[in-house]
Amino acid sequence: MFNVSHLTRNYGSFVAVDDVSFSIKKGEIIGLLGHNGAGKTTIMKIVSGYLEADQGEVSFNGISLKENPKLLQKHLGYLPESLPVYPEMSVAEYLDYAADLKGLKITEKVEEIKRVIKATDLSAKLLAPIQTLSRGYKQRVGVAQAILGKPKLLILDEPTNGLDPEQTQHMRQLIKDIAQEATVILSTHIMQEVNALCDRVLILKSGQLVLDEKLDVLQHSKHLIVETDCKDLDMLKKVSGVKNIEENNNNTLLVEISKQEFSRTICSDMSKVIIEAGANLFALYPQKRDLETVFNQINNDVYSSKKQAVKKGKEAKNAA
Ligand code: ATP
Repeated sequence: MFNVSHLTRNYGSFVAVDDVSFSIKKGEIIGLLGHNGAGKTTIMKIVSGYLEADQGEVSFNGISLKENPKLLQKHLGYLPESLPVYPEMSVAEYLDYAADLKGLKITEKVEEIKRVIKATDLSAKLLAPIQTLSRGYKQRVGVAQAILGKPKLLILDEPTNGLDPEQTQHMRQLIKDIAQEATVILSTHIMQEVNALCDRVLILKSGQLVLDEKLDVLQHSKHLIVETDCKDLDMLKKVSGVKNIEENNNNTLLVEISKQEFSRTICSDMSKVIIEAGANLFALYPQKRDLETVFNQINNDVYSSKKQAVKKGKEAKNAA
């Protein structure tokens, strides 16, 4: 289990990360989302030990970052936004150096370097100085060093940035494979990537965590689509959990429900009512939203309600 608790980081008087807490289980892939400047990189730098937090705790499987940074970093693979590589080193030299930094034993080092070279398809560039590589190849070198030593905690800042479509696919498969035995946090602006890879999304805005939700829950709205020739909307509105029904075109109803968790029961009850009334039921399914819409909606709505909650809390404190 990976735990981040009440993390705060200021740059002077500017609060870049504001009291952020979350936990991640083994095998989960988390998408860390947010507009530019939301605080994603700052969080990733803190949790990987490259930057100190002003407040808060980070731990992985009970190992505290504050108390035992070296031990925690042994379990960590980190692909930063820009890799501090040495431009004059060849790819092979750099990976050898990275393996030493990770403390890989001589006996496992060669096999492990071979494994990551194969996984990131770097064999054609092994002897090339890093400064001569294209952006995509540099990115592959970054990913190769991140996965050296099969880390149990993998933090990837925009992992497919600069990769061609084939490598992007390859990289996504690699991340999925790694996640079977590890915890993965990835930051990306590509919603398609989140859809393809992530179990859960964390959305940051202005340093605050405004949403922590499973992707499938997030993508279901509180609406059902019912395709039926049943015209008795008053009867359908009596189904428990139904808040409102609007008639769209062509025998299609948009049913607003009180809670997303009840959608299966409501689907079942609604189908019974329609069939028992002798009408036809052509289809009945939860309305899905694409992640981009959700991202925009949630970013605004949830943030403003959280801001209000914070404001109210402060007001209550001041009044006391
Ligand atoms: P992006 O998507 O553009 O990479 P991000 O979500 O990763 O953005 P961060 O890089 O974490 O955002 O930055 C969060 C905020 O902190 C930004 O407003 C940024 O300008 C500010 N910031 C980051 N590093 C520093 C620094 N060293 N000094 C001052 N401010 C900083």
